[in-house]
Order: sequence, then structure tokens, then C-alpha cells
Amino acid sequence: MLWTTIAGSLPKPAWLAKPGVLWAPWRLEGAELAEAKHDAVLVALREQEAAGIDVVTDGEQSRQHFVHGFLEAIEGVDFTRRQTIGIRADRYRAEVPTVVGPVRRRRPVHGDEVRFARAHTARRLKFTMPGPMTIVDTLADEHYRDRRRLAMEFARLLNEEARELAALGLDVLQLDEPAFNVYLDDVKAWGIEALNAAVSGVPCKTAVHICYGYGIPANLQWKATLGGEWRQYEETFPVLASSHIDQVSLECAGSRVPVSLLGLLEGKDVMVGAIDVANDVVETAEQVAATIRKALGFVPPERLYPCTNCGMVPLAREVARGKLRALAAGAALVRRELGAA
Ligand code: ZN
Repeated sequence: MLWTTIAGSLPKPAWLAKPGVLWAPWRLEGAELAEAKHDAVLVALREQEAAGIDVVTDGEQSRQHFVHGFLEAIEGVDFTRRQTIGIRADRYRAEVPTVVGPVRRRRPVHGDEVRFARAHTARRLKFTMPGPMTIVDTLADEHYRDRRRLAMEFARLLNEEARELAALGLDVLQLDEPAFNVYLDDVKAWGIEALNAAVSGVPCKTAVHICYGYGIPANLQWKATLGGEWRQYEETFPVLASSHIDQVSLECAGSRVPVSLLGLLEGKDVMVGAIDVANDVVETAEQVAATIRKALGFVPPERLYPCTNCGMVPLAREVARGKLRALAAGAALVRRELGAA
């Protein structure tokens, strides 16, 4: 019980992409880039294993952007027609590609990445993709002009991809939906329907990651406007509790999310964010344990997975390593208290 995992990403080595920069361009190209990505995945796997993380990821070392990495293989999405738009309800501006025609997978997108990671770790393996609502919110659409319809189209493509990835030996397929904390009405109107469609019939565990974003200034300013208690989850958790998703990954460490809201996820596995990714201070094992203990008031231990709040890609590597070790050590402390170590 209390298996540890991470939201998904880890910082990239300096030889692969510029450190400390979100969406940093690659430093190599062609065959050299392909080899460097593989090397970076091996490092990411070994570092998680060495720290004692139970359910590992490839650290998202092979993609520049958590949404566009999937979109690059989609016909109908034109990366030569980039536009700068306000995303996440205009919280920040991002350069995004444009949907110019019907969307279709040109080829399997992440199969090689999952195959490689699966061949190089004996631990349980998780792989992440963007969720349909977050995809729709991270591009410009000049074809469908209907967010719900476009989300359902992407749900279909994600489902094709997810089934293939699960067949390669994946243990957990996670969809990242930070947009779920922004468009609360749309979540109920069509976000959940799209999410269910994306994971329909996928034979491994399925998860959704709902966070308040990386620790970048635009997100920190947004969080400052959310008031003394962050209750966004209060609206989405009951809907998620009745969804087909097995696991929900959420933010708890250093946030103003009332921990009692976890009780709304009855029946689901809960990945409790016990590591803050918005600062460079490495938590102590005791701090991680304290977050886990609080969550245990609302989630039974066999359904609780200590996790990071969000991806660690913007952090310094040494900080991320420290946070991995703290996460594993904190979980071990609580496991011992429960007599399960
Ligand atoms: Zn996140």
C-alpha cells in the first residue's frame, strides 16, 4: 500500500534541452536527438528507481510540450500556422497550432516511447497524455469551431492510442486535464463525457491528473486570486467519482485545497500530491508523511498513492532528485506506522 508515483515529468538533462525553461527547444537533431532522448529516459527511470518510486514514468523526456507532443502526429493540426492565444481562460498566452481539417492519427504516436520504457524497467509503468479538454484548450480551431465536438474527436484518437499503449505492457495510462480546474461548467457539460470516451475499453488502469499547473508566475498569480480555500475540486470530484476513470491525481502539498474534499472521490484511487513543484525547497520525509496522514482521514490506505502535485520539468535536477527521495521516504514512514513496511 501507499505506492509512490509522480505526476509525470522530470527535468531534462542540459545536453538534451536548456534547463529551467518550459518547452525548451531540443539541443540536438536527427539520430543524435533520438539517441539522446533514449539516454534521458534511462536516466529518468534509474533516478526514480534509486529514490524508491514504485510506479515510474519516462519522465516525459521525449516530448517538448505535454500537449503538442501528441498533436505533432495528428493530421488536420497545422504547426506551420501557429497563433498566440490566451489559454486556460486567458490566464496566460501560448503559441499554439491550428486545426485546419478533420483530425486523424497519422501514425501511432507514443508506441516506441512506451516500448522503450517498458523494456528498461521492471517497475510498474505509467504513461501520460493530454486529456481531450486540455487539448482543445491548447490549440486554435478553424475547422470544427465547436469545443465539445472537437473534444470528442480527440477523445476518439486518444482512445485508439491508449488501447495500443496498454497492449504494450503499460500499467497506468494517465490523461492530464489541468483545464478541468478552469472550465467547471464545461467539465459537467462535456469534459467528463470526452474523458470517459478516451479511456473506454482500455485494459490497464486509467488515471486523470487535475492540477493547478506548473509553478510558473502566471499560475502563482492565478492561485492568489482563488481565495482562502480552493474549492474547484468540490465541483469536479463528484462527477469524476461517477466516471470510468480508476485513479485521480490531485494537488495537496502547499495548496489551499481542503483535504476533506478527497472524501468526494469515494471508490477511486487517489494520487495525493505530497510534493510541491512550485518551489525549490525539498520537503522533509516528515512533511510528506504529514500530508499523507491528513489524506488518510478521507482515503483508505490501499487506495492512496503518494505523488507529486504536478510535473517537475521546470525544476533543477538536483531539486527534483531530492523531492523524489523525500516522497519515497515520507511514504515509507507512514507505511511503517500502519504496520505495512
Ligand atoms: Zn499538473
